[in-house]
Amino acid sequence: MPTPATLLTIDLTALVRNWRHLAGQAAHGNCAAVVKADGYGLGAVEVAAALLAAGCTQFFVAHLAEAISLRAGLATRFPDKHPSIGVLNGLFAGEQAEFVAHNLIPVLNSPAQLADWPADAPAILQIDTGMSRLGLEAAEFDAVLPDLRRRPFTLLMSHFACADAPDHPLNRQQIDQFGAALRQLPGVPGSLAASSGIFLGADAHFDLLRPGYALYGGNPTPGQPNPMTAVVRLSTPILQIRDIPAGRPVGYGARWVSKAPSRIATVPYGYADGVPRVTEGAIFHLGGQPVPVVGRVSMDLITLDVTGVAAAIPGAEVDILGPQRDIDQGGTDGGTLGYEILTSIGRRAARRYGT
Ligand SMILES: *Cc1c(COP(=O)(O)O)cnc(C)c1O
Repeated sequence: MPTPATLLTIDLTALVRNWRHLAGQAAHGNCAAVVKADGYGLGAVEVAAALLAAGCTQFFVAHLAEAISLRAGLATRFPDKHPSIGVLNGLFAGEQAEFVAHNLIPVLNSPAQLADWPADAPAILQIDTGMSRLGLEAAEFDAVLPDLRRRPFTLLMSHFACADAPDHPLNRQQIDQFGAALRQLPGVPGSLAASSGIFLGADAHFDLLRPGYALYGGNPTPGQPNPMTAVVRLSTPILQIRDIPAGRPVGYGARWVSKAPSRIATVPYGYADGVPRVTEGAIFHLGGQPVPVVGRVSMDLITLDVTGVAAAIPGAEVDILGPQRDIDQGGTDGGTLGYEILTSIGRRAARRYGT
């Protein structure tokens, strides 16, 4: 028997539905797709190909290397389509020729990057409006404005710091500062909203939406019902079942001790696969029934209390993520965000694409 496989099933129909839903929110203008970090771990080329087929024409990644492999992957499948691919993390000295050769658009984030890019070549300009992370400072923007006005920017962009907190005063301040800068560059489209920013309302939309997380089913409105459709299911087979008496410790550190006779299932998934070690106590599911994580999460194994769950036999599939436990719940259980759960799903989980 081969090693039982953990499966990450990716529903591309749900992904496309999510993109359409987000695009439908746009007050005006278009909706891009952010597919950095290998499509948030789901496979950038597969994800972008599904969205390109559905009509998305603008993609963003973080690194030049990601952009080059995305361009190659999309060109193979869609030789006649030429979607735009923007590189969020910017342009570094010596990379110009590669950007041009692969038809990629750098996001210019500093005066040095502006100087390194031909003034007559298309580019995206980023300004900082509150993250203090990437982009021109307001004073830098003002200082080079005459030069900026002569350049063929395809987009002016900035990024929200607190879009997941709709009442945060920084949101309004960022919208106003961004709008003012955009008015200084007549004819250049603007983009400010990522997933959560889309739900701040029309004022935040400008000309291009830039979602990532919500495309993959993450909740862009924390604390409120998730308007998105789930895209991922992560299931792993039971390796072994054992019946233990009351008073028996389970796992490293003997931290969990059975209070009553219990049935324990061991599955081949652990913190090396992206389940945070603190996930002890979380509820996974087997055939829709809850099966709690008991004992420490090991590197490659997790133990579950399956007492009274008749379907729990070796080979039965346990959902780590699925209809009853979404990526946001995974984040809550792990003391982190669904973003980190999604992008940490290990390479040992085989990716399967469904529609
Ligand atoms: C990652 C990123 C996005 C997408 O953010 P989500 O919250 O995943 O929608 C958009 N813009 C920039 C600049 C980013 O870094």
